[in-house]
Amino acid sequence: MDHDPLPGDHPETGHVSTGALPPDTDVQALVSAGYERYRHLGEGAVAGYIPALAAASPSAFGVCVAGVGGRLFSAGDADQEFAIESISKLFVFALVCHALGHDQARRKLGVNSTGLPFNSVMAIELNADRTMNPLVNAGAIATTSLVPGTTAEEKFESIVAAMSRFAGRRLVMDGGVYESEAATNDRNRGIAHLLDGYGRMYCDPDLATDVYTRQCSVRVSARDLAVMGATLANGGVNPVTGEQAIETSYCKRVLAVLATAGLYEQSGEWLYDVGLPGKSGVAGGIVTVSPGKGGLGTFSPPLDAAGNSVRGQHITRYLSEALGLNLFASAPFA
Ligand code: GLN
Repeated sequence: MDHDPLPGDHPETGHVSTGALPPDTDVQALVSAGYERYRHLGEGAVAGYIPALAAASPSAFGVCVAGVGGRLFSAGDADQEFAIESISKLFVFALVCHALGHDQARRKLGVNSTGLPFNSVMAIELNADRTMNPLVNAGAIATTSLVPGTTAEEKFESIVAAMSRFAGRRLVMDGGVYESEAATNDRNRGIAHLLDGYGRMYCDPDLATDVYTRQCSVRVSARDLAVMGATLANGGVNPVTGEQAIETSYCKRVLAVLATAGLYEQSGEWLYDVGLPGKSGVAGGIVTVSPGKGGLGTFSPPLDAAGNSVRGQHITRYLSEALGLNLFASAPFA
């Protein structure tokens, strides 16, 4: 389906439907209560397939909520840094929307959860590693291949600069994580070459995989993730620095893709429980966005079978409910 421009593509003429966070003291009390509620939860296992991540402490746990007014509320290890991993995919997609326009990005990458018909038997048989959307590895490496720049250094600098605008501080790569991943990512290189064969890779596949591995190794904290999420919740303007990190009209596109695929094969259950777009990473981070209200960042390394942080999912579900963030919730007209 081709699309004609709508008023909502131009922020000054479109209306938005959002509310506000509860008062500051309530938000901090609930963030602290959620932290206490889940800090001793023992489920999940730290990711083992990337050697440098296997050494993470299972007890590390941090949470931060950033309001669109720029206020931060945190508990636990909210300043501890870890590799952003798959959460980088969403910010690189945002960058590519900016570089190509969201329609071109959709055409080149896809924005569906499976990309197959409603009654497809193949959809059950295939795993997620296809260029169906920018948040599974195939689509993510294809997305990285579209980033402005010719050399790996130029492309990576475009990515770090873009992610740093979201975080409001200059982010840096963890060299140890990068080397560890680069030495063990034959699978991602294979995916990139396979896509190249299908004409769905937009630069040299090894270069794209290398830049992708670097972007996954960028260090962030739960606090950074909260601010990055709040930027997407705030029409693309970082609520702490006031800098525009992404065009307003692209935020809703990026969030729609997150809602569809941000937690991989558990995205439907996540949406059912939390009612908000979110994105997880294999080092234990999750970023969640409450449009018009704020962003949530969580960090806890033990993961479930799909690779999503166990404590992160629990506390985000708790806070979505307690702070009244679920996008699908309504009260009867009085
Ligand atoms: N760098 C990791 C990989 O490609 C990212 C995976 C993730 O965070 N889920 O395997």
